[in-house]
Amino acid sequence: TSFGFRSVPEDLKESLVKNVFDSVAAKYDLMNDATSFGVHRLWKDTFVSSLRPGRKGPMKCIDVAGGTGDIALRILDYAKDNHYDRETTVEVVDINAQMLKEGYRRFKRTMYHNTPQISFHEANAQNLGSEKFKDNTYDLYTIAFGIRNCTSIPDVLKEAYRVLKPGATFACLEFSRVNNPLLSTLYDQYSFSVIPVLGTVLAGDSASYQYLVESIRKFPPQPEFAQMIRDAGFVTGKDIDGGAWTDLWGGIASI
Ligand code: SAM
Repeated sequence: TSFGFRSVPEDLKESLVKNVFDSVAAKYDLMNDATSFGVHRLWKDTFVSSLRPGRKGPMKCIDVAGGTGDIALRILDYAKDNHYDRETTVEVVDINAQMLKEGYRRFKRTMYHNTPQISFHEANAQNLGSEKFKDNTYDLYTIAFGIRNCTSIPDVLKEAYRVLKPGATFACLEFSRVNNPLLSTLYDQYSFSVIPVLGTVLAGDSASYQYLVESIRKFPPQPEFAQMIRDAGFVTGKDIDGGAWTDLWGGIASI
């Protein structure tokens, strides 16, 4: 099967991405559930529990491209439920004010609202700004389904490295490459025919979802991305024994 795309010029990508998430912010969570049959929730649970936040005491976390706060909420809940930790903090950072607003609204219904445990900040992952986000600050940097939307992955990784303390953890959850040919064909059919239709029906916006599908195809496969992470200065496990990444659902997503 082949698909034709007019790809987006890099200089337009940032404003386009901003528009995409502006137009879907309010329906973002619904669309996530619909397009993934709720599986994104399981992946996010697996992601956060694999990091075991709070196990060595309270952590200072930054969740970049954090959107409506799905990962932040799981980090705080995990630390509370497993380690009676109510001191871990998460700073949610996103380039899009609408997504952050939606997140803030959501947290109003939680016990974390109006506590130092959660805060929302508008900034670009590629340049967080060293005034506000200082060097060697965080114990954990998370980015879930966000890095593929950024114009320069190396810039994001460089910033992550800068703000993390030595010995701290960078963790990314992202759509990745499916290796099984049968699963890969089914997944292609699903992405290119079903997702844009769901986008139209549920969010009134097929173009944005078409873009999301395209961005997944363009994202580097697991070994290439692992190498980019190492190039930024991080140490990973080996590629072969699963130390550098863990595939979820045959590589549809990967940690
Ligand atoms: N992490 C959340 C989750 O898993 O539900 C949100 C993921 S959403 C698919 C991607 C988010 O990345 C959007 O909220 C978007 O605004 C944000 N984003 C895109 N480019 C960004 C950039 N350069 N810097 C910071 N955030 C960015």
